[in-house]
Amino acid sequence: MAPKLPVYMDNQATTAVDPRVVDAMLPYFTEKFGNAASRNHEFGWKAEEAVENARSQIARLIHCTPREIVFTSGATESDNLAIKGVAEAYRGKGNHIVTQATEHKAVLDTCKRLEKSGCEVTCLPVGRDGLIDLEDLRRAITPKTILISIMHANNEIGVIQPIEEIGKIAKEKGVIFHVDAAQSVGKIPVDVEKFGIDLLAISAHKIYGPKGVGVLYVRRKNPRVELAAMIDGGGHERGLRSGTLNVPGIVGLAKACELCEKEMPQESERLGVLRDKLKEAIMSRLDDTFINGSMVHRLPNNLNVSFAGVEGDALLMGINDVAVSSGSACTSATLEPSYVLQALGVPDERAHSSIRFGLGRFNTEEEVDYVAGRVVETVKRLRELSPLYEAAKPQSSR
Ligand SMILES: *Cc1c(COP(=O)(O)O)cnc(C)c1O
Repeated sequence: MAPKLPVYMDNQATTAVDPRVVDAMLPYFTEKFGNAASRNHEFGWKAEEAVENARSQIARLIHCTPREIVFTSGATESDNLAIKGVAEAYRGKGNHIVTQATEHKAVLDTCKRLEKSGCEVTCLPVGRDGLIDLEDLRRAITPKTILISIMHANNEIGVIQPIEEIGKIAKEKGVIFHVDAAQSVGKIPVDVEKFGIDLLAISAHKIYGPKGVGVLYVRRKNPRVELAAMIDGGGHERGLRSGTLNVPGIVGLAKACELCEKEMPQESERLGVLRDKLKEAIMSRLDDTFINGSMVHRLPNNLNVSFAGVEGDALLMGINDVAVSSGSACTSATLEPSYVLQALGVPDERAHSSIRFGLGRFNTEEEVDYVAGRVVETVKRLRELSPLYEAAKPQSSR
């Protein structure tokens, strides 16, 4: 049976807002529209109460206290605040930051900017599996190191870094540890205490919440992390992020967290089964396909595959009733192969032939069957049209 078209399977780029999230948000656009900073009337109190309830809900999901939650406009801003905020506040202690090659641009470009103003940045390499080497990390830390910024799950290949082990090293060396958790919070367990995380970025629109709202978790005890604010103004969020709070967005983010907390075990199980079905359906019917990144240390909802002899963009056009992505959405406008796949040592040609499948809450088994079928028929057709691929094929598989 054909599903409703087009099929959305790009949930690492963004997710649809869950209807239950929309319902929770709606009153905060209309009858409960108050400014959470208005201290002298009912409208303000109602908004403030909603924000404080949201803070508690989000804190529960990541195991921190509500006072450690700072609302922002999303994970990009949270990453900027964490990295620039530490660089400025700890200038007296040092100027060295350690990060790694497959970070989101929100981290890499922030580090690049800081390099221009006197910071030193070490960017750790990753192996073919997409994982950093913990010994590399240990060796990179110097007395001048003030921050380690390593993501939890990667947005292109879904690879999950050993965050708990990194947290131990950071603690041992007395270095602040920032984690971009935009792809992991709500999908797999995240515990800032257990993992030794000091700063953590969250984005609502990756977890079935609205766009334009996120969180930076800022540790207040063992150690108390100091941050320089990036946005000054009314002193909101304990002076760390001024600006009138996006109350409907914050309520939506909290509802999204509540749903993820409740449904995570079943949802990750279901999506893992669907993802494996998609993988099998594609790889059992096509030769010369390659998985990019570790299959073991990986989000249950991500698959990243290269199809030899096929241009990723030609494949995308061929399956135009299926929304997937070649490389990352942020770089697919350019002809550069994905820097993430390059960091894994994937040859350019193979990186150009890669497709990211991001499954999500609203995908069905019928959609998985349909997508696999469309991919297989399109890859076969494109390969038949490619004299180079046909010529290069071993005789046995012709
Ligand atoms: C989406 C994403 C971001 C950016 O989040 P926004 O809320 O869109 O700013 C940062 N890091 C990772 C890993 C992401 O997946």
